[in-house]
Amino acid sequence: MLLFLILFYCIFIINRGFFVVGKKVLVTSALPYVNNVPHLGNLIGSVLSADAFARFMRVDGREVLFVLGTDEHGTTAEFKAMEEKLTPRELVDKYFLIHKNIYDWFQTSYDCLGRTSSKENAQITQHIFKKLYDNGYITEHSITQLYSEPSKKFLSDRFVEGECPYCHASGARGDQCDACGKLLDPSELIKPISKLDGSTPVLKETKHLYIDLPKIQPDLVEWFSESKSKWSNIAVSVTEQWLKQGLKERCITRDLEWGVKIPLEGWENKVFYSWFDAPIGYIGITIENRSDWKDWWMSEDVSLYQFMGKDNVPFHSIMFPAFLIGTKEGYKLVDYLASTDYLNYEDKKFSKSKNIGVFGDDAKDTGIASDVWRYYLFRVRPESGDTQFEWNDFQSKVNNELVGNFGNFVNRVVAQNEKFFSSVAPKSNHELLEKAGPLVEEYKSLFYSARIRDALSKANEISSLGNKYLQEKQPWIEVKTNPSGAALTIANCLELAKLLAVIYYPFTPTACEKIFGILGEKESIIKVGVSGAFEGIEEGRVITPKGILFEKIEDKRIVELKQKFG
Ligand SMILES: [Zn+2]
Repeated sequence: MLLFLILFYCIFIINRGFFVVGKKVLVTSALPYVNNVPHLGNLIGSVLSADAFARFMRVDGREVLFVLGTDEHGTTAEFKAMEEKLTPRELVDKYFLIHKNIYDWFQTSYDCLGRTSSKENAQITQHIFKKLYDNGYITEHSITQLYSEPSKKFLSDRFVEGECPYCHASGARGDQCDACGKLLDPSELIKPISKLDGSTPVLKETKHLYIDLPKIQPDLVEWFSESKSKWSNIAVSVTEQWLKQGLKERCITRDLEWGVKIPLEGWENKVFYSWFDAPIGYIGITIENRSDWKDWWMSEDVSLYQFMGKDNVPFHSIMFPAFLIGTKEGYKLVDYLASTDYLNYEDKKFSKSKNIGVFGDDAKDTGIASDVWRYYLFRVRPESGDTQFEWNDFQSKVNNELVGNFGNFVNRVVAQNEKFFSSVAPKSNHELLEKAGPLVEEYKSLFYSARIRDALSKANEISSLGNKYLQEKQPWIEVKTNPSGAALTIANCLELAKLLAVIYYPFTPTACEKIFGILGEKESIIKVGVSGAFEGIEEGRVITPKGILFEKIEDKRIVELKQKFG
Protein backbone atom coordinates (compact mmCIF):
# COMPACT_ATOMS: atom_id res chain seq x y z
CA MET A 1 0.00 0.00 0.00
CA LEU A 2 2.77 2.41 0.95
CA LEU A 3 4.70 1.62 -2.22
CA PHE A 4 1.55 2.21 -4.21
CA LEU A 5 1.00 5.61 -2.64
CA ILE A 6 4.61 6.66 -3.22
CA LEU A 7 4.41 5.53 -6.83
CA PHE A 8 1.19 7.39 -7.36
CA TYR A 9 2.58 10.52 -5.78
CA CYS A 10 5.66 10.39 -8.04
CA ILE A 11 3.51 10.10 -11.14
CA PHE A 12 1.47 13.01 -9.86
CA ILE A 13 4.56 15.21 -9.35
CA ILE A 14 6.07 14.30 -12.72
CA ASN A 15 2.87 15.09 -14.55
CA ARG A 16 2.36 18.38 -12.79
CA GLY A 17 5.30 19.70 -14.77
CA PHE A 18 3.21 19.61 -17.94
CA PHE A 19 0.16 21.22 -16.40
CA VAL A 20 0.78 24.91 -16.78
CA VAL A 21 -2.61 25.51 -15.25
CA GLY A 22 -3.40 27.77 -12.32
CA LYS A 23 -5.47 26.79 -9.33
CA LYS A 24 -8.36 28.78 -10.79
CA VAL A 25 -9.73 27.81 -14.17
CA LEU A 26 -12.06 30.05 -16.14
CA VAL A 27 -13.99 28.16 -18.83
CA THR A 28 -16.15 29.73 -21.53
CA SER A 29 -18.39 28.21 -24.17
CA ALA A 30 -19.02 30.18 -27.37
CA LEU A 31 -22.27 32.07 -26.89
CA PRO A 32 -24.88 30.56 -29.21
CA TYR A 33 -26.92 32.98 -31.27
CA VAL A 34 -30.21 33.27 -29.42
CA ASN A 35 -32.78 33.01 -32.20
CA ASN A 36 -31.59 29.67 -33.54
CA VAL A 37 -32.36 26.50 -31.64
CA PRO A 38 -28.94 24.84 -31.22
CA HIS A 39 -28.43 21.50 -32.98
CA LEU A 40 -26.27 18.64 -31.73
CA GLY A 41 -23.27 20.00 -33.63
CA ASN A 42 -23.53 23.36 -31.86
CA LEU A 43 -23.93 21.60 -28.54
CA ILE A 44 -20.88 19.37 -28.80
CA GLY A 45 -18.80 22.06 -30.54
CA SER A 46 -18.80 24.40 -27.58
CA VAL A 47 -21.43 24.06 -24.83
CA LEU A 48 -20.94 20.38 -23.91
CA SER A 49 -17.20 20.46 -24.54
CA ALA A 50 -16.83 23.33 -22.10
CA ASP A 51 -19.08 21.49 -19.65
CA ALA A 52 -17.07 18.24 -19.66
CA PHE A 53 -13.90 20.24 -19.30
CA ALA A 54 -15.27 22.27 -16.38
CA ARG A 55 -16.47 19.09 -14.67
CA PHE A 56 -13.09 17.45 -15.11
CA MET A 57 -11.26 20.46 -13.67
CA ARG A 58 -13.55 20.36 -10.64
CA VAL A 59 -12.88 16.67 -9.96
CA ASP A 60 -9.19 17.39 -10.38
CA GLY A 61 -9.39 19.81 -7.48
CA ARG A 62 -9.43 23.17 -9.22
CA GLU A 63 -11.65 26.14 -8.60
CA VAL A 64 -13.72 26.55 -11.75
CA LEU A 65 -15.92 29.27 -13.16
CA PHE A 66 -17.85 28.14 -16.23
CA VAL A 67 -19.45 30.98 -18.21
CA LEU A 68 -22.26 30.33 -20.67
CA GLY A 69 -24.90 32.52 -22.24
CA THR A 70 -26.59 33.73 -25.38
CA ASP A 71 -25.60 36.23 -28.06
CA GLU A 72 -28.72 38.37 -28.38
CA HIS A 73 -27.98 41.47 -30.44
CA GLY A 74 -27.70 41.99 -34.15
CA THR A 75 -29.71 42.57 -37.24
CA THR A 76 -31.10 39.01 -37.35
CA ALA A 77 -32.74 39.40 -33.94
CA GLU A 78 -34.20 42.80 -34.82
CA PHE A 79 -35.46 41.51 -38.15
CA LYS A 80 -36.92 38.31 -36.74
CA ALA A 81 -38.70 40.32 -34.03
CA MET A 82 -40.32 42.40 -36.77
CA GLU A 83 -41.42 39.19 -38.53
CA GLU A 84 -42.84 37.66 -35.34
CA LYS A 85 -44.49 40.98 -34.41
CA LEU A 86 -42.56 41.16 -31.15
CA THR A 87 -40.15 43.71 -29.78
CA PRO A 88 -36.52 42.53 -29.96
CA ARG A 89 -36.56 42.25 -26.15
CA GLU A 90 -39.65 40.01 -26.23
CA LEU A 91 -38.08 37.90 -28.94
CA VAL A 92 -34.80 37.29 -27.11
CA ASP A 93 -36.63 36.64 -23.83
CA LYS A 94 -38.64 33.93 -25.57
CA TYR A 95 -35.61 32.26 -27.16
CA PHE A 96 -33.37 32.62 -24.14
CA LEU A 97 -35.73 30.34 -22.21
CA ILE A 98 -35.62 27.75 -25.00
CA HIS A 99 -31.83 27.81 -24.83
CA LYS A 100 -31.74 27.62 -21.05
CA ASN A 101 -34.07 24.59 -21.04
CA ILE A 102 -31.86 22.81 -23.55
CA TYR A 103 -28.67 23.48 -21.58
CA ASP A 104 -30.34 22.36 -18.38
CA TRP A 105 -31.66 19.18 -19.95
CA PHE A 106 -28.16 18.36 -21.20
CA GLN A 107 -26.87 18.88 -17.62
CA THR A 108 -24.69 21.84 -18.44
CA SER A 109 -22.97 22.78 -15.18
CA TYR A 110 -22.56 26.51 -15.82
CA ASP A 111 -21.65 28.76 -12.89
CA CYS A 112 -22.70 31.90 -14.76
CA LEU A 113 -25.54 31.93 -17.27
CA GLY A 114 -26.35 35.24 -18.87
CA ARG A 115 -27.08 37.32 -21.93
CA THR A 116 -25.25 39.84 -24.07
CA SER A 117 -28.34 42.08 -23.91
CA SER A 118 -27.95 42.64 -20.15
CA LYS A 119 -27.27 46.09 -18.72
CA GLU A 120 -24.03 44.73 -17.27
CA ASN A 121 -22.81 43.81 -20.73
CA ALA A 122 -23.83 47.20 -22.10
CA GLN A 123 -21.80 48.90 -19.36
CA ILE A 124 -18.64 46.83 -19.80
CA THR A 125 -18.88 47.10 -23.61
CA GLN A 126 -19.14 50.88 -23.36
CA HIS A 127 -16.28 50.95 -20.87
CA ILE A 128 -14.00 48.88 -23.10
CA PHE A 129 -14.96 51.02 -26.09
CA LYS A 130 -14.10 54.23 -24.21
CA LYS A 131 -10.69 52.87 -23.26
CA LEU A 132 -10.01 51.93 -26.88
CA TYR A 133 -11.19 55.38 -27.93
CA ASP A 134 -9.02 57.18 -25.37
CA ASN A 135 -6.02 55.05 -26.34
CA GLY A 136 -6.38 56.04 -30.00
CA TYR A 137 -7.57 52.70 -31.38
CA ILE A 138 -10.90 53.95 -32.77
CA THR A 139 -11.21 55.68 -36.14
CA GLU A 140 -14.14 57.21 -38.02
CA HIS A 141 -14.93 56.76 -41.73
CA SER A 142 -17.74 57.86 -44.01
CA ILE A 143 -19.38 55.34 -46.32
CA THR A 144 -22.41 55.42 -48.58
CA GLN A 145 -25.26 53.23 -47.47
CA LEU A 146 -28.89 52.59 -48.43
CA TYR A 147 -31.32 54.95 -46.69
CA SER A 148 -35.09 54.95 -46.41
CA GLU A 149 -36.53 58.47 -46.80
CA PRO A 150 -40.01 57.63 -45.37
CA SER A 151 -38.55 55.90 -42.27
CA LYS A 152 -35.61 58.34 -42.00
CA LYS A 153 -33.29 55.40 -41.39
CA PHE A 154 -30.15 53.82 -42.77
CA LEU A 155 -30.89 50.22 -43.64
CA SER A 156 -28.77 47.33 -42.41
CA ASP A 157 -28.32 44.38 -44.75
CA ARG A 158 -31.33 42.31 -43.76
CA PHE A 159 -33.64 45.27 -44.03
CA VAL A 160 -33.14 45.46 -47.80
CA GLU A 161 -34.23 42.98 -50.45
CA GLY A 162 -33.86 42.98 -54.20
CA GLU A 163 -32.64 41.14 -57.25
CA CYS A 164 -29.38 39.20 -56.90
CA PRO A 165 -26.63 40.76 -59.06
CA TYR A 166 -25.16 37.26 -59.67
CA CYS A 167 -28.04 34.84 -60.36
CA HIS A 168 -30.80 37.46 -60.76
CA ALA A 169 -33.13 35.66 -58.37
CA SER A 170 -35.65 37.98 -56.76
CA GLY A 171 -35.90 38.32 -52.98
CA ALA A 172 -32.14 38.28 -52.33
CA ARG A 173 -31.35 39.73 -48.90
CA GLY A 174 -28.89 42.55 -48.37
CA ASP A 175 -26.38 40.19 -46.76
CA GLN A 176 -26.82 37.06 -48.86
CA CYS A 177 -28.71 35.54 -51.78
CA ASP A 178 -30.40 32.32 -50.68
CA ALA A 179 -30.79 31.16 -54.29
CA CYS A 180 -27.08 31.10 -55.17
CA GLY A 181 -25.54 31.45 -51.70
CA LYS A 182 -23.35 34.46 -52.61
CA LEU A 183 -22.57 36.94 -49.82
CA LEU A 184 -23.76 40.40 -50.81
CA ASP A 185 -23.42 44.02 -49.84
CA PRO A 186 -26.83 45.76 -49.74
CA SER A 187 -25.68 48.38 -52.27
CA GLU A 188 -25.08 45.62 -54.87
CA LEU A 189 -28.78 44.64 -55.00
CA ILE A 190 -30.67 45.41 -58.22
CA LYS A 191 -34.00 47.23 -57.62
CA PRO A 192 -33.62 47.32 -53.82
CA ILE A 193 -36.72 47.58 -51.62
CA SER A 194 -36.80 48.64 -47.96
CA LYS A 195 -38.28 45.89 -45.78
CA LEU A 196 -39.30 48.54 -43.27
CA ASP A 197 -41.72 50.43 -45.47
CA GLY A 198 -41.59 49.08 -49.04
CA SER A 199 -39.94 52.24 -50.34
CA THR A 200 -37.03 52.34 -52.77
CA PRO A 201 -33.99 53.25 -50.68
CA VAL A 202 -31.42 55.80 -51.84
CA LEU A 203 -27.66 55.83 -51.34
CA LYS A 204 -26.60 58.36 -48.75
CA GLU A 205 -23.38 59.12 -46.93
CA THR A 206 -23.07 58.14 -43.28
CA LYS A 207 -20.24 57.75 -40.78
CA HIS A 208 -19.18 54.68 -38.83
CA LEU A 209 -16.64 53.82 -36.14
CA TYR A 210 -13.84 51.34 -36.78
CA ILE A 211 -11.42 49.54 -34.55
CA ASP A 212 -7.85 50.12 -35.71
CA LEU A 213 -6.67 46.51 -35.67
CA PRO A 214 -3.46 47.26 -37.66
CA LYS A 215 -2.35 49.54 -34.82
CA ILE A 216 -2.94 46.78 -32.23
CA GLN A 217 -1.42 44.03 -34.40
CA PRO A 218 2.19 44.24 -33.09
CA ASP A 219 1.09 43.72 -29.47
CA LEU A 220 -1.33 41.01 -30.58
CA VAL A 221 1.38 39.16 -32.51
CA GLU A 222 3.71 39.26 -29.53
CA TRP A 223 1.04 37.76 -27.28
CA PHE A 224 0.02 35.16 -29.89
CA SER A 225 3.60 33.94 -30.34
CA GLU A 226 3.84 33.22 -26.63
CA SER A 227 0.41 31.59 -26.34
CA LYS A 228 -0.12 29.52 -29.47
CA SER A 229 1.79 26.43 -28.33
CA LYS A 230 -1.16 25.61 -26.07
CA TRP A 231 -3.88 26.02 -28.71
CA SER A 232 -5.55 23.46 -30.94
CA ASN A 233 -3.90 23.14 -34.38
CA ILE A 234 -6.84 24.55 -36.26
CA ALA A 235 -6.98 27.60 -33.97
CA VAL A 236 -3.29 28.29 -34.63
CA SER A 237 -3.54 27.90 -38.41
CA VAL A 238 -6.65 30.08 -38.75
CA THR A 239 -5.04 32.82 -36.65
CA GLU A 240 -1.73 32.68 -38.51
CA GLN A 241 -3.58 33.05 -41.78
CA TRP A 242 -5.37 36.19 -40.57
CA LEU A 243 -2.18 37.74 -39.22
CA LYS A 244 -0.23 36.93 -42.37
CA GLN A 245 -2.78 38.72 -44.54
CA GLY A 246 -2.48 41.72 -42.22
CA LEU A 247 -5.36 42.96 -40.09
CA LYS A 248 -7.65 45.66 -41.45
CA GLU A 249 -9.67 48.32 -39.70
CA ARG A 250 -13.05 46.85 -38.89
CA CYS A 251 -16.40 48.57 -38.55
CA ILE A 252 -17.91 48.28 -35.05
CA THR A 253 -21.14 50.29 -35.49
CA ARG A 254 -24.48 49.61 -37.18
CA ASP A 255 -27.72 51.36 -38.01
CA LEU A 256 -30.00 49.47 -35.68
CA GLU A 257 -32.04 50.21 -32.61
CA TRP A 258 -31.44 46.86 -30.94
CA GLY A 259 -27.95 46.81 -29.47
CA VAL A 260 -25.54 48.51 -27.10
CA LYS A 261 -25.67 52.29 -27.46
CA ILE A 262 -22.51 54.14 -28.43
CA PRO A 263 -21.39 56.36 -25.55
CA LEU A 264 -20.41 59.34 -27.73
CA GLU A 265 -22.33 62.46 -28.63
CA GLY A 266 -23.80 62.44 -32.13
CA TRP A 267 -24.04 58.62 -32.33
CA GLU A 268 -27.51 58.21 -30.81
CA ASN A 269 -28.96 56.48 -33.90
CA LYS A 270 -26.38 53.73 -34.08
CA VAL A 271 -25.41 50.80 -31.90
CA PHE A 272 -22.36 48.56 -31.66
CA TYR A 273 -22.08 45.79 -34.19
CA SER A 274 -22.94 42.57 -32.33
CA TRP A 275 -19.56 41.04 -33.12
CA PHE A 276 -18.11 43.74 -30.86
CA ASP A 277 -20.31 43.25 -27.79
CA ALA A 278 -20.72 39.44 -28.16
CA PRO A 279 -17.21 38.35 -27.04
CA ILE A 280 -17.20 41.06 -24.37
CA GLY A 281 -20.34 39.19 -23.25
CA TYR A 282 -18.14 36.63 -21.47
CA ILE A 283 -17.11 39.38 -19.08
CA GLY A 284 -20.59 40.94 -19.03
CA ILE A 285 -22.19 37.60 -18.12
CA THR A 286 -19.67 37.09 -15.34
CA ILE A 287 -20.46 40.57 -13.97
CA GLU A 288 -24.19 39.74 -14.25
CA ASN A 289 -23.61 36.74 -11.95
CA ARG A 290 -20.61 37.51 -9.76
CA SER A 291 -19.47 40.50 -7.75
CA ASP A 292 -15.94 39.01 -7.69
CA TRP A 293 -15.67 39.08 -11.49
CA LYS A 294 -12.33 40.91 -11.41
CA ASP A 295 -10.78 37.97 -9.55
CA TRP A 296 -11.43 36.02 -12.74
CA TRP A 297 -11.05 38.48 -15.58
CA MET A 298 -8.30 40.70 -14.22
CA SER A 299 -6.14 38.16 -12.42
CA GLU A 300 -2.94 36.49 -13.59
CA ASP A 301 -3.72 33.63 -11.21
CA VAL A 302 -6.35 32.28 -13.60
CA SER A 303 -6.10 29.98 -16.63
CA LEU A 304 -8.64 30.81 -19.33
CA TYR A 305 -9.91 28.01 -21.58
CA GLN A 306 -12.29 28.99 -24.39
CA PHE A 307 -14.33 26.44 -26.35
CA MET A 308 -15.82 27.10 -29.79
CA GLY A 309 -16.45 25.78 -33.30
CA LYS A 310 -13.78 26.54 -35.90
CA ASP A 311 -15.83 29.29 -37.57
CA ASN A 312 -15.60 31.24 -34.34
CA VAL A 313 -11.81 31.16 -33.97
CA PRO A 314 -10.92 34.65 -35.34
CA PHE A 315 -13.30 36.32 -32.90
CA HIS A 316 -11.49 34.65 -29.99
CA SER A 317 -7.92 34.66 -31.26
CA ILE A 318 -7.85 38.10 -32.90
CA MET A 319 -10.83 40.36 -32.19
CA PHE A 320 -11.52 39.76 -28.51
CA PRO A 321 -7.83 39.75 -27.47
CA ALA A 322 -7.29 42.90 -29.57
CA PHE A 323 -10.09 44.74 -27.74
CA LEU A 324 -8.68 43.70 -24.38
CA ILE A 325 -5.05 44.48 -25.23
CA GLY A 326 -6.15 47.87 -26.57
CA THR A 327 -7.68 48.86 -23.22
CA LYS A 328 -4.27 48.45 -21.51
CA GLU A 329 -6.24 47.48 -18.39
CA GLY A 330 -4.76 44.02 -17.93
CA TYR A 331 -7.70 41.78 -18.74
CA LYS A 332 -7.18 38.03 -18.79
CA LEU A 333 -6.44 36.78 -22.31
CA VAL A 334 -7.17 33.27 -23.52
CA ASP A 335 -4.56 30.68 -22.52
CA TYR A 336 -6.01 27.69 -24.32
CA LEU A 337 -8.17 28.10 -27.38
CA ALA A 338 -10.01 24.82 -27.93
CA SER A 339 -11.80 24.73 -31.26
CA THR A 340 -13.62 21.86 -32.92
CA ASP A 341 -14.39 20.95 -36.50
CA TYR A 342 -17.97 20.23 -37.55
CA LEU A 343 -20.31 17.43 -36.62
CA ASN A 344 -22.53 16.61 -39.60
CA TYR A 345 -25.74 14.62 -39.60
CA GLU A 346 -25.71 11.38 -41.62
CA ASP A 347 -23.42 13.01 -44.25
CA LYS A 348 -25.61 16.12 -44.43
CA LYS A 349 -25.56 19.51 -42.77
CA PHE A 350 -27.99 20.14 -39.93
CA SER A 351 -30.88 22.29 -41.14
CA LYS A 352 -33.94 23.29 -39.16
CA SER A 353 -35.76 24.62 -42.22
CA LYS A 354 -35.13 21.40 -44.19
CA ASN A 355 -35.93 19.29 -41.12
CA ILE A 356 -32.54 17.56 -41.18
CA GLY A 357 -30.95 16.44 -37.94
CA VAL A 358 -31.59 16.49 -34.24
CA PHE A 359 -31.91 19.81 -32.48
CA GLY A 360 -31.48 20.47 -28.79
CA ASP A 361 -35.18 20.39 -28.00
CA ASP A 362 -35.75 17.17 -30.01
CA ALA A 363 -33.23 15.13 -28.01
CA LYS A 364 -35.36 15.32 -24.90
CA ASP A 365 -38.47 14.11 -26.75
CA THR A 366 -36.78 10.88 -27.89
CA GLY A 367 -37.03 9.51 -24.35
CA ILE A 368 -33.32 8.61 -24.48
CA ALA A 369 -31.53 9.79 -21.33
CA SER A 370 -29.42 12.93 -21.38
CA ASP A 371 -26.36 10.93 -20.21
CA VAL A 372 -26.70 8.67 -23.26
CA TRP A 373 -26.84 11.61 -25.66
CA ARG A 374 -23.85 13.16 -23.97
CA TYR A 375 -21.89 9.92 -24.17
CA TYR A 376 -22.37 9.58 -27.90
CA LEU A 377 -21.70 13.25 -28.65
CA PHE A 378 -18.40 13.12 -26.75
CA ARG A 379 -17.49 9.90 -28.57
CA VAL A 380 -17.87 11.65 -31.95
CA ARG A 381 -16.60 15.07 -30.84
CA PRO A 382 -14.91 16.53 -33.95
CA GLU A 383 -11.44 17.00 -32.44
CA SER A 384 -9.43 16.34 -35.58
CA GLY A 385 -11.51 16.68 -38.73
CA ASP A 386 -15.27 16.71 -39.25
CA THR A 387 -17.28 13.79 -37.85
CA GLN A 388 -20.73 12.32 -38.43
CA PHE A 389 -23.76 11.74 -36.30
CA GLU A 390 -25.09 8.37 -37.49
CA TRP A 391 -27.96 6.51 -35.90
CA ASN A 392 -26.41 3.05 -36.42
CA ASP A 393 -23.18 4.24 -34.89
CA PHE A 394 -25.15 5.84 -32.05
CA GLN A 395 -26.81 2.51 -31.29
CA SER A 396 -23.59 0.54 -31.58
CA LYS A 397 -21.51 2.85 -29.38
CA VAL A 398 -24.22 3.12 -26.75
CA ASN A 399 -24.98 -0.62 -26.64
CA ASN A 400 -21.43 -1.95 -26.94
CA GLU A 401 -19.50 0.62 -24.96
CA LEU A 402 -21.70 2.57 -22.58
CA VAL A 403 -24.03 -0.31 -21.73
CA GLY A 404 -21.74 -3.24 -22.60
CA ASN A 405 -18.55 -1.98 -20.99
CA PHE A 406 -19.00 0.71 -18.32
CA GLY A 407 -22.61 0.03 -17.31
CA ASN A 408 -22.16 -3.72 -17.42
CA PHE A 409 -19.04 -3.68 -15.25
CA VAL A 410 -20.70 -1.70 -12.48
CA ASN A 411 -23.89 -3.77 -12.65
CA ARG A 412 -22.05 -7.10 -12.52
CA VAL A 413 -19.89 -6.11 -9.58
CA VAL A 414 -22.77 -4.72 -7.55
CA ALA A 415 -24.97 -7.73 -8.36
CA GLN A 416 -22.29 -10.28 -7.43
CA ASN A 417 -21.45 -8.45 -4.24
CA GLU A 418 -25.13 -8.67 -3.35
CA LYS A 419 -25.40 -12.34 -4.28
CA PHE A 420 -22.24 -13.63 -2.61
CA PHE A 421 -21.48 -11.11 0.12
CA SER A 422 -24.89 -9.68 1.08
CA SER A 423 -23.98 -6.23 -0.32
CA VAL A 424 -21.22 -5.63 2.21
CA ALA A 425 -17.88 -4.52 0.72
CA PRO A 426 -15.11 -7.08 1.40
CA LYS A 427 -11.48 -6.12 2.06
CA SER A 428 -9.46 -5.02 -0.99
CA ASN A 429 -5.74 -4.88 -1.78
CA HIS A 430 -6.04 -1.96 -4.27
CA GLU A 431 -4.71 -4.17 -7.07
CA LEU A 432 -7.08 -2.82 -9.71
CA LEU A 433 -6.59 0.80 -8.69
CA GLU A 434 -2.84 0.33 -9.05
CA LYS A 435 -3.32 -1.09 -12.53
CA ALA A 436 -5.57 1.82 -13.46
CA GLY A 437 -3.16 4.48 -12.10
CA PRO A 438 -1.05 5.03 -15.24
CA LEU A 439 -4.14 5.08 -17.48
CA VAL A 440 -5.75 7.69 -15.25
CA GLU A 441 -2.65 9.85 -15.65
CA GLU A 442 -3.01 9.57 -19.43
CA TYR A 443 -6.69 10.43 -19.12
CA LYS A 444 -5.80 13.57 -17.17
CA SER A 445 -3.15 14.66 -19.67
CA LEU A 446 -5.69 14.32 -22.48
CA PHE A 447 -8.16 16.49 -20.60
CA TYR A 448 -5.52 19.12 -19.91
CA SER A 449 -4.98 19.45 -23.64
CA ALA A 450 -8.77 19.54 -24.16
CA ARG A 451 -8.75 16.23 -26.07
CA ILE A 452 -12.08 15.31 -24.59
CA ARG A 453 -13.04 12.53 -27.01
CA ASP A 454 -9.69 10.86 -26.43
CA ALA A 455 -10.11 11.22 -22.68
CA LEU A 456 -13.42 9.38 -22.96
CA SER A 457 -11.76 6.57 -24.93
CA LYS A 458 -9.20 6.37 -22.14
CA ALA A 459 -12.00 6.09 -19.57
CA ASN A 460 -13.42 3.21 -21.62
CA GLU A 461 -10.00 1.54 -21.51
CA ILE A 462 -9.99 1.80 -17.74
CA SER A 463 -13.46 0.27 -17.59
CA SER A 464 -12.33 -2.55 -19.91
CA LEU A 465 -9.55 -3.24 -17.46
CA GLY A 466 -12.23 -3.99 -14.88
CA ASN A 467 -14.22 -6.29 -17.16
CA LYS A 468 -11.07 -8.16 -18.12
CA TYR A 469 -10.08 -8.57 -14.48
CA LEU A 470 -13.52 -9.88 -13.60
CA GLN A 471 -13.43 -12.29 -16.53
CA GLU A 472 -10.00 -13.63 -15.52
CA LYS A 473 -10.78 -14.01 -11.82
CA GLN A 474 -14.32 -15.37 -12.29
CA PRO A 475 -15.38 -14.73 -8.69
CA TRP A 476 -18.73 -16.46 -9.36
CA ILE A 477 -16.79 -19.74 -9.76
CA GLU A 478 -14.02 -19.01 -7.28
CA VAL A 479 -16.55 -18.29 -4.53
CA LYS A 480 -17.36 -22.04 -4.33
CA THR A 481 -13.78 -23.12 -3.65
CA ASN A 482 -12.01 -20.01 -2.36
CA PRO A 483 -14.49 -17.48 -0.93
CA SER A 484 -11.81 -15.12 0.38
CA GLY A 485 -10.19 -14.93 -3.08
CA ALA A 486 -13.57 -14.11 -4.62
CA ALA A 487 -14.16 -11.51 -1.93
CA LEU A 488 -10.87 -9.83 -2.76
CA THR A 489 -11.78 -9.71 -6.45
CA ILE A 490 -15.16 -8.13 -5.74
CA ALA A 491 -13.65 -5.62 -3.31
CA ASN A 492 -11.08 -4.53 -5.90
CA CYS A 493 -13.81 -4.20 -8.52
CA LEU A 494 -15.99 -2.08 -6.22
CA GLU A 495 -13.05 0.29 -5.84
CA LEU A 496 -12.65 0.52 -9.57
CA ALA A 497 -16.38 1.30 -9.87
CA LYS A 498 -15.79 4.26 -7.55
CA LEU A 499 -12.89 5.46 -9.68
CA LEU A 500 -14.98 5.04 -12.84
CA ALA A 501 -17.75 7.18 -11.31
CA VAL A 502 -15.23 10.00 -10.94
CA ILE A 503 -13.59 9.73 -14.35
CA TYR A 504 -16.88 9.33 -16.26
CA TYR A 505 -18.42 12.20 -14.32
CA PRO A 506 -17.50 14.79 -17.01
CA PHE A 507 -19.45 12.70 -19.57
CA THR A 508 -22.36 10.97 -17.82
CA PRO A 509 -22.91 12.84 -14.55
CA THR A 510 -26.31 11.38 -13.58
CA ALA A 511 -25.13 7.77 -13.82
CA CYS A 512 -21.95 8.61 -11.92
CA GLU A 513 -23.89 10.19 -9.08
CA LYS A 514 -26.05 7.07 -9.02
CA ILE A 515 -22.91 4.93 -8.63
CA PHE A 516 -21.80 7.08 -5.71
CA GLY A 517 -25.23 6.49 -4.17
CA ILE A 518 -24.93 2.73 -4.71
CA LEU A 519 -21.45 2.71 -3.17
CA GLY A 520 -22.62 4.68 -0.14
CA GLU A 521 -20.15 7.52 -0.66
CA LYS A 522 -20.81 10.29 1.84
CA GLU A 523 -19.05 13.08 -0.07
CA SER A 524 -19.87 14.41 -3.53
CA ILE A 525 -17.94 13.29 -6.60
CA ILE A 526 -16.26 16.70 -6.83
CA LYS A 527 -15.20 16.61 -3.18
CA VAL A 528 -13.75 13.10 -3.52
CA GLY A 529 -12.16 13.93 -6.85
CA VAL A 530 -9.69 11.90 -8.88
CA SER A 531 -7.11 11.69 -6.10
CA GLY A 532 -9.71 10.74 -3.46
CA ALA A 533 -10.99 7.91 -5.66
CA PHE A 534 -7.63 6.17 -5.18
CA GLU A 535 -8.31 5.85 -1.47
CA GLY A 536 -10.65 2.99 -2.31
CA ILE A 537 -13.55 1.61 -0.26
CA GLU A 538 -13.19 0.39 3.33
CA GLU A 539 -14.13 -3.15 4.33
CA GLY A 540 -17.61 -3.54 5.73
CA ARG A 541 -19.23 -0.65 3.92
CA VAL A 542 -22.86 -1.29 2.96
CA ILE A 543 -23.50 -1.21 -0.79
CA THR A 544 -27.04 -0.52 -2.02
CA PRO A 545 -28.00 -1.93 -5.45
CA LYS A 546 -30.24 0.51 -7.37
CA GLY A 547 -30.81 -1.14 -10.74
CA ILE A 548 -29.00 -0.81 -14.05
CA LEU A 549 -27.27 2.39 -15.16
CA PHE A 550 -28.15 2.57 -18.86
CA GLU A 551 -30.77 1.02 -21.14
CA LYS A 552 -29.88 -0.66 -24.43
CA ILE A 553 -31.33 0.93 -27.56
CA GLU A 554 -33.36 -1.57 -29.58
CA ASP A 555 -33.24 -1.85 -33.41
CA LYS A 556 -36.90 -0.91 -33.68
CA ARG A 557 -36.28 2.36 -31.86
CA ILE A 558 -33.40 3.28 -34.20
CA VAL A 559 -35.61 2.71 -37.24
CA GLU A 560 -38.26 5.02 -35.78
CA LEU A 561 -35.73 7.72 -34.93
CA LYS A 562 -34.16 7.58 -38.40
CA GLN A 563 -37.56 8.13 -39.95
CA LYS A 564 -38.45 10.95 -37.63
CA PHE A 565 -35.28 12.98 -38.13
CA GLY A 566 -34.64 12.51 -41.84
ZN1 LIG B 1 -28.09 34.89 -56.30
